[in-house]
Amino acid sequence: MDLSRIRNVGIIAHIDAGKTTLSERILFYTKKEHKMGTVDEGTAKMDYLQDEQARGITITSAATTCLWNDHQINLIDTPGHVDFTAEVERSLRVLDGAIGVFCGVAGVQAQSETVWRQADRYRVPRIAFVNKLDRTGSSFDKTVASIRDRLGVNAVSVQIPLIDESRRVGVIDLVRRLLLRFPEDSLGETILQESVPADLRERAEQARLDLIEKVASEDEDLMEMYVHERTIEAADLAAAIRRSVIARRVVPVFGGAALRNFGVQPVLDAVVQFLPSPLDVGPVRARRVGSESTEEFKPDPGGELLALAFKTIHDPHGDLTFLRMYSGELRPGDNAYVPRINKVERIGRLFVMHADERESVEVARAGEIVAAVGLRNVQTGDTLCLKKHAVELEGMLFPQTVISMSIEPRTSADRDALDEALRILARDDPTFRFEINEETGQAVVSGMGELHLEILGNRLTRDFKVPVRLGKPRVAYRQTVRNAAEVDEVFERQIGGRNHFGRIRLRVEPQREIVPAIEIRLDKERVPRVFWDPIRAAAQGALRSGLDLGYPIVRVRVVICDGEVREMESTEIAMVAATTHAFGRAMELSGVDLLEPIMRFAIVTPAEYMKAVLGDLSGRRGRLEEMDTTADPVTISGTVPLAEIFGYSTAIRSLSQGRASFTVEPSDYWPVPEEVAQQLRF
Ligand code: GDP
Ligand code: MG
Repeated sequence: MDLSRIRNVGIIAHIDAGKTTLSERILFYTKKEHKMGTVDEGTAKMDYLQDEQARGITITSAATTCLWNDHQINLIDTPGHVDFTAEVERSLRVLDGAIGVFCGVAGVQAQSETVWRQADRYRVPRIAFVNKLDRTGSSFDKTVASIRDRLGVNAVSVQIPLIDESRRVGVIDLVRRLLLRFPEDSLGETILQESVPADLRERAEQARLDLIEKVASEDEDLMEMYVHERTIEAADLAAAIRRSVIARRVVPVFGGAALRNFGVQPVLDAVVQFLPSPLDVGPVRARRVGSESTEEFKPDPGGELLALAFKTIHDPHGDLTFLRMYSGELRPGDNAYVPRINKVERIGRLFVMHADERESVEVARAGEIVAAVGLRNVQTGDTLCLKKHAVELEGMLFPQTVISMSIEPRTSADRDALDEALRILARDDPTFRFEINEETGQAVVSGMGELHLEILGNRLTRDFKVPVRLGKPRVAYRQTVRNAAEVDEVFERQIGGRNHFGRIRLRVEPQREIVPAIEIRLDKERVPRVFWDPIRAAAQGALRSGLDLGYPIVRVRVVICDGEVREMESTEIAMVAATTHAFGRAMELSGVDLLEPIMRFAIVTPAEYMKAVLGDLSGRRGRLEEMDTTADPVTISGTVPLAEIFGYSTAIRSLSQGRASFTVEPSDYWPVPEEVAQQLRF
C-alpha cells in the first residue's frame, strides 16, 4: 500500500461514549468482520480479554487493520477509564490522527477532556463524532458547543444529523449538500444519497455558510475564495478542511448513533479524507545517542531503519512487541539495534494484528504499525535503528502510580512464579510497579487505581496460573526535599583484605517536575567514565527506595558535583556506597516532606442530591473548583486527596440512591497535612 493511502488512527473518549461500539461498526462496514459484535452481549471483537467482555469495558488498546475506499486504516480502540491511561498514552504517541467520540447527552465528560489533552501533547490531528443522538435529551448542537467551550477548539459542524428516538431521517452532509440515509434493513450498510429536501434547504445553506466562515478563518485559500465571493465547490471546502485539520486548527464534527448503525460511514470517509497519512505528518526527529543534537527521518521505506516500540504483550506463543515504523523497513530475520541496552536484537516473525489474532507479514515499512516476535530485551519506549547510526526517539510519559496493595500467592510454593509473573506484568504495563521487601519477602504492587490492580490480580490467576491474595488499597505516598543541600561523603573501608575508597560530593534540590532528575557534572579526569553509570544507578536506586518510610522520592534534582578516586583503591562498591550515603545525608539536611496523590474528580448528580454530595465531600478534604447548578443533573468538579476516597463509589451510591456518577484521575501531589502525617509515622 502506498504511504499516502495509510491512516493510523485511534478512537479516544470518556468511558461509555461508544468507542468500542463505533469500532465494531467500522469492522463490519469495512467487511473486516461479517458479524456485528456488541459490547452489551460481550461479543465485541476489540474487547477480547475476558475481563473486558464480562465487564463491558475496554482495558487494553486493541489494534486492527481494515480497508475503506482503497485506503488502509490502522485503527486502535483505546480504554476510557483513567486506570488504563497508559494504553491511551502509548497509542497517541504513535498515531497520526484520532477520532474523539462524545456522548450526545452528556457532552464533554471529564475523561474526554483528559484524553483530548493527551492528544494535544502529541500533536495529533482530530475529528469528532457525537454519538448516541438516538437518546432522549441528546443534542448535536449543544455537544458541538461544549466541545468548543470546554476543549477550546475550533469545532465545526460538517453535518446536520436528523435523528431522534422516533425519527431517523438521516444526516445532511454540508460539504456535498446531500442527505444521507441509513436504512435499517441492511444494518445501515447501504447508504442512500438524496438531495436535501426543500424544507431543509435554507437551514442547510445557512449551516454551510457558517461552516465555510469558520474554516476560512483558519485557511487562507478558502478565505481568498470567500472574500472574492467565488463559488465554493465541495472539493474546495473538503480540501480546506483537510488542510486545517492537519494543521490542528479545526475539528470537524460528525453526528450519529453507532449502536443504531447510523452515521458511521461518513466518519470512515472523513478518516480517509481529512486525517493525515504518514506522509502528511512528515519527518520525525530523533536524538543522536551521546549528543544533544537531533536529526530528521523522513517516512521513507527506502531510508534507514527507525522504529519505536510502544507496547509489549506477554504471550505464551511468543511475546509481542508493537512497533511503529518511522523510516526504512524490517523483515523477519533482520537485526535491529537498541541504543538503550546497546544490543542488537533479531526480529523473529512480523504480524499485523486484528485484536487478538495475528496475520503474518513479510515486511513492515515506514508508516506502518506491526507486532514483532523475538525482541526479547526490548521495552516500551525503546528505539530500533541501525547500529552505525544510533539515535533515540522521544519516549512516552507515564504517570506515577497512586495506589498500592500487598500481594501474596495463595500457596507459598508459587512465590517464585509470582515474582516472575509480576516482572512480566510490570514490563508490559509502565503504570504497574512492584517491590519485594528483601527481608520479609513481602511483595507490594502499585498502580493507577483499584480497578487496575484488581484486573492485574485476575490476570495473575488466569493467565499466569498464580492465584493471589490482594491486600486493602493503600495510598502510594511520595516524599520530596524541602530545601537544597550539599554533602561531601568519603567511604573508606577494608573489605576482603583490601582498601576500598570512594568520595562523592552531591547536591539535592527541589524542582517542580515530578520525575526526579539526575545530573552528572563529574570531570572525567577526576572520576573516570567507568564509574558514572554505577553512580547514576546508585542515585536512582536511592530515589526509588526512599528514606525511613520507604516512599519513592520525587520533585527533586540530584546533582553529582564532584568526586575523588585513588589509584588501586577506588572500586565500584566504594563509589556506589559513597553516593548512597551522600544522598541519605543530603536528604536529612534538606528536610523531607511527605506528599500525597491528589485526585481531580467530576461528579454528575441529580440536583436533589447535590447538598448531600457536597456535605460529604467537605468531610473528605475535598476542594470545589467548578459547579454548574443551572442544569439538572449538576456537574461538580474539584480535587480531593486519594486517601479520602477509597470506597467512594459505595458512599455516593447511598447518598444519591444510585443516581450520581463520578470519575477521578490523578492530578497532583500535595504535602500531607501534619496531623495526617503523624498518623502515618506511627
Ligand atoms: P466505550 O466505553 O466508549 O467503548 O463505549 P461502548 O462502546 O462500550 O458503549 C457503552 C454503552 O453505550 C454500551 O452499552 C453501548 O451499547 C451503548 N451505546 C453505544 N453507542 C450507542 C448509541 O449510539 N446509542 C445508544 N443509545 N447507546 C449506545
Ligand atoms: Mg470500549
